[in-house]
Amino acid sequence: MARKTKAVAMVSGGLDSTLAVKMMVDQGIDVHGVMFVTGFCYADPRRPKKRTRTGKRPEQNEALRAGRQTETSITMEDISEEYLQDVVVNPKFGYGSAINPCIDCRIFMLKKAKKYADAIGAPFIITGEVLGQRPMTQHFKTLRLIEKESGLTKLILRPLSGKLLPPTLPEEEGWIDREKLQDISGRSRHKQMALAVELGIDDYPQPAGGCCFLTDQNYALRLKDLFKYRDSASLTLNDMILLKVGRHFRINENLKVIVGRDEAENNFLTNFLKGRWAFEAVDVSGPLTVAEGEVRDEDIPIIAAITARYSDGKNQPAVRVHYRDEKKVGEIEIEPIKNGTLDNWRL
Ligand code: SF4
Repeated sequence: MARKTKAVAMVSGGLDSTLAVKMMVDQGIDVHGVMFVTGFCYADPRRPKKRTRTGKRPEQNEALRAGRQTETSITMEDISEEYLQDVVVNPKFGYGSAINPCIDCRIFMLKKAKKYADAIGAPFIITGEVLGQRPMTQHFKTLRLIEKESGLTKLILRPLSGKLLPPTLPEEEGWIDREKLQDISGRSRHKQMALAVELGIDDYPQPAGGCCFLTDQNYALRLKDLFKYRDSASLTLNDMILLKVGRHFRINENLKVIVGRDEAENNFLTNFLKGRWAFEAVDVSGPLTVAEGEVRDEDIPIIAAITARYSDGKNQPAVRVHYRDEKKVGEIEIEPIKNGTLDNWRL
C-alpha cells in the first residue's frame, strides 16, 4: 500500500485551522497537528474560556478538540521562554496596532513547524490562514515575505484560500488536488461556517478577534509600561502572566501595584508573592494587593490606601491594612484613596 504524504498543520483550535486540517485529511494527507504555546495565547488554559457556538462548556484546550474532531494527532510545544525575548521584546518587523509582533510571530512559529516537519519527514506545512483576514499578516505580499523569511517558499499550503494563491509544491507534485481547495478571502466567516456544515465540523469556539493578548490594547499599555521601566532582558514569563490579572497602577518608576479584582484573582496572585509585597485589609473583606519594585516607608500609606479603596471599607473614614514582605511586616490605619488620584496611576 502506498504511504500517505505527511504534512504538519499549525493548529490553534479555531474554526479556520480546524477546517484546513479536515480538508487535508479528506484529501488523504497524513496530518500531524502542532500547537505552539507562547504564554500569550487566548487558548492558554489559564484564561477563562468563551462558550462555544453551540453553547457547550468550552474545551480545556481548543487545539486538542480540533484534533479530536479531525482525527488528527496534536503535539503541544511550549516556546514561551524563547518567544518572549526573540519575538515580543525585539521584533524585526515591528508591532501592529497594539503590541502584537505578528509578522515575527508567524515567521518564528513557521520555523518551529518546519523543524518539526523535518523531524517527522513531512514535506510541507498547512495553516488555516485566510487571505486578507488579518491586517498585519495575511495580505498577499506579507504572506510571501513570511514564507521567504521562514525558509518555506512554496511549502505552506493554505487550503481555505488555496485557489487564490500561487500553486505550492504539494499541488505541483499532485499530492493535493487544487480544485478541492477553497477561494475564501476577507474577514467574513460565512463561507467558513457553511464549509463547517459541509465537512461535519459541528462545534468550534467563537472567533476571538485575534489570537493572543498582544493584540489587546489594555494589555499592550501594561506591557509597554514594563518595557519602559524594566530591563527587557530581565522580563520573565511570570511578569507576562501577571499583566493579565488585576488592576494595575504605576506609582513611580520603581514601584508598581496590582490589585486583585475578585477571589479567584486574589488566590492567583498569592503565587507571585516571592520578592514582592502583600497588602490586605484586616477587619473587612478586600483584595490582595501586590507591590513590586522598591517600596519605601513613604510608599506604604499609598499602597495601603489603594487596598482600602477596593475593600468593603471603601466608604469608611479609615481601614486597617496589614502589609508584609520577606523582611518586614506591619499594620497601618488609613483613609481609602480617592478615585481622582488613582486615575493618574492607572494602567
Ligand atoms: S495575534 Fe499574537 S499569536 Fe497571532 S500572529 Fe499576532 S502575535 Fe502571533
